[in-house]
Amino acid sequence: MGGGAVPPMIAGVASLIERISGSADWSTEARAILAELGQLTGADRAYLFRLHEHGGFGLAQTCLADWARDGLAPLTGDRRNTDENLRDADPLFMSWTERRRRGEVIRGHTRDLTGYLRADFEHQRILSFLSVPIMVAGAWWGHIGLDSCFSEREWTEEEVAALRLVAASVALAVARSSSGYSRSEAVRAAIVATSLDAIVTADEAGRIVEFNPAAEAMFGLSRGEAVGLPLWDVIVPERLRADYAGTVGRRLSVDGSGPFGQRVEMPGRRQSGAEFPAEMTFSEVQVAGRRLFTAFIRDITERKAAAAALERLAYADAATGLPNRAGLTRAMASMGGASMGGASTGGAPMGGEAALCVLAVRFIDFDAIVAGLGQDFAESLAVEAARRCAGALLDGAVLARIAPNCLAVALPCGMTDPGMMADALRGCLARPFHLANRSIKLRVGLGMEVAPWHEQILDDAVMASLQAAADAVVVFDAALRASRVNRLTLESDLRTAMEVAFNVETERNVRRPGGLWVAYQPIVRLADGGLAGFEALVRWDHASRGILSPAEFIPIAEETGLIFALGRWVLEEATRQAALWTRFGLPLFVSVNVSPRQFADPDLPLALTEAITRAGLPKGALKLEITESVVAGNEEEAVAILKDVRCLGASVAIDDFGTGYSSLSYLHRLPIDVLKIDRSFVTGMRSAGNTRQIVRSVLDLSRCLGIDTVAEGVETAEDAETLREYGCRYGQGWLYGQPLLPEDATRLIGAEQARGV
Ligand code: C2E
Ligand code: MG
Ligand code: MG
Repeated sequence: MGGGAVPPMIAGVASLIERISGSADWSTEARAILAELGQLTGADRAYLFRLHEHGGFGLAQTCLADWARDGLAPLTGDRRNTDENLRDADPLFMSWTERRRRGEVIRGHTRDLTGYLRADFEHQRILSFLSVPIMVAGAWWGHIGLDSCFSEREWTEEEVAALRLVAASVALAVARSSSGYSRSEAVRAAIVATSLDAIVTADEAGRIVEFNPAAEAMFGLSRGEAVGLPLWDVIVPERLRADYAGTVGRRLSVDGSGPFGQRVEMPGRRQSGAEFPAEMTFSEVQVAGRRLFTAFIRDITERKAAAAALERLAYADAATGLPNRAGLTRAMASMGGASMGGASTGGAPMGGEAALCVLAVRFIDFDAIVAGLGQDFAESLAVEAARRCAGALLDGAVLARIAPNCLAVALPCGMTDPGMMADALRGCLARPFHLANRSIKLRVGLGMEVAPWHEQILDDAVMASLQAAADAVVVFDAALRASRVNRLTLESDLRTAMEVAFNVETERNVRRPGGLWVAYQPIVRLADGGLAGFEALVRWDHASRGILSPAEFIPIAEETGLIFALGRWVLEEATRQAALWTRFGLPLFVSVNVSPRQFADPDLPLALTEAITRAGLPKGALKLEITESVVAGNEEEAVAILKDVRCLGASVAIDDFGTGYSSLSYLHRLPIDVLKIDRSFVTGMRSAGNTRQIVRSVLDLSRCLGIDTVAEGVETAEDAETLREYGCRYGQGWLYGQPLLPEDATRLIGAEQARGV
């Protein structure tokens, strides 16, 4: 392409652009550039305005450079050519400002103007005008324009394009010359475009100049719609606008004392009018020599909801909506703190000293109710109980559900008599509950502590409630404290012992100091004294206390949930042992105790299947002992579980029969194989009274129902004789043997085999 073919306009613009971009400081060339531009377009004046912040007053635009034909007054240096406070300018000027913010070209004739602009332009003797905004980093930086002052004229598209090109190259030069633009501004632009936070930048007048895609999504309007609008009108609810535009806005835009760098939580507003919780940070940015400020806005609706949900999870009980243990502890701490005036000593209450009363209301049979009537029923019962207690609260009291089976009430008891609260709670729970077509009496044990707030106060009350018989109140005292310490130590020791026992790979049968092992107590046929099986009874050789009875640690395991792992381990040990004994060829069974909580464990069938299949036990070789409480109340569910157990090849025994709910009536409906008559009946038979008669009836009934019987606690030959006479099939007790070490049990089987029985 030959040089002569280039149209003069294009050639002129190309040389201008070269001049702008080629110079080290384009601004020194500004006037010469404008002169060339003016001549190129046949204009009478060419000028360059820039925006800036003006004396703490807001946005202003000032003429930086101009060129004009002879006879026209220069704009530069004329004080009139700083248009102050764009915000409050006249409507037409305002609309121009808006359009320039959006990068729009403005052209026309002065005769069509009104107001301030008309007067101003007439003063400059302008007849026709054309101007193009200079956009730096997306924001209106200033504008470049042409005037025609000697004749009215239209501007050709070529001239407009030329002006646009010059404006663009000025923008580039400005951007490049403002410190470190090229890299940091490009990075910033990328961040803005891709940020998940809304990024909204406003100019000195508080008008939006930048509105990123995240902002478009968050506020529900497009960049094009947002640019030029007052920042606060777009992002905050109407009721807050005046505030922000006034105080915060002014501080941010004018004196820079606003909350830069701080995180501020405030409501945001979408275009639809909906409000949302937002977190905003403000920062000042220097773009091309202008002081803009940017709001980074994050929609924290989800975070708030998650926090609220977490708060609920952490501090409330789902079923009742009451505070949970953590919630009550928090409430008590503030209660105690308030009433103690921060002077808590943690000691015993002194006469008249402000103290807390904490009451624990423990549902005594809750586990049995869960096991028997099901989780849903038990939960509804707890909810009902909580509702009643809520109705009985004294002023200032806080009710909580601190465990599935335990409610608690805390109240500052400066004036109130703590006994009154206890009586009210007892009273409201005394009536039976009517739920799901059932009438059920909820037995509760109440524990109470009255003391200044201290860390243990809730545990103390619970501990006391554990000592309380049905519907009684126990007040916490020093002896209980000692027993709690004892219990806590035992619990932690038990965890350690379990860990050790579960990880022994070899010599599992060996009894070791500090260890857990399973003892086997013989069960014999009363008819001929032959060995029929064993009951597996867990033992704990405690490092410092010696051998502990399961009666001492099973309740702790139950309470803490350790029973699941412990029970499973006993089951595995016992089935493994039973498998070893099958080599003697005797039809022996092993009986394993299953606690109420274990019985209610949905994993029980799986654990059973695993244990039985791993050991390869024949049918009937494993019996599970459950107590009556597990069945009482909800036979249906219990029956279903029992049927499963039997399907898996284990048989079922009712342990300690006669001590629990003692309902002979349900026996025939239960899929059970064995009844174990509690030791107290066997003991009772030795004295006068009707115990013998009771035992006899039970045995008769069992025979009728085809249920086998084992008498527990057979200690004397006379016991055995009587029981045999009454038709009891098996006996277990000191008479036949104590619970034995596994190796001793094995020896006993060997001897039995040798006897050839
Ligand atoms: P239980 O199932 O009724 O076990 C019988 C208890 O009576 C055993 O007490 C046994 O040593 C004792 N006993 C047996 N014959 C006689 C006798 O002739 N006279 C007297 N006075 N007592 C006799 P132990 O081993 O202390 O167990 C107490 C309870 O602990 C058991 O009562 C059972 O309910 C529970 N338990 C034991 N091992 C386990 C276990 O592995 N899991 C679960 N869940 N509970 C267990
Ligand atoms: Mg038992
Ligand atoms: Mg028993």
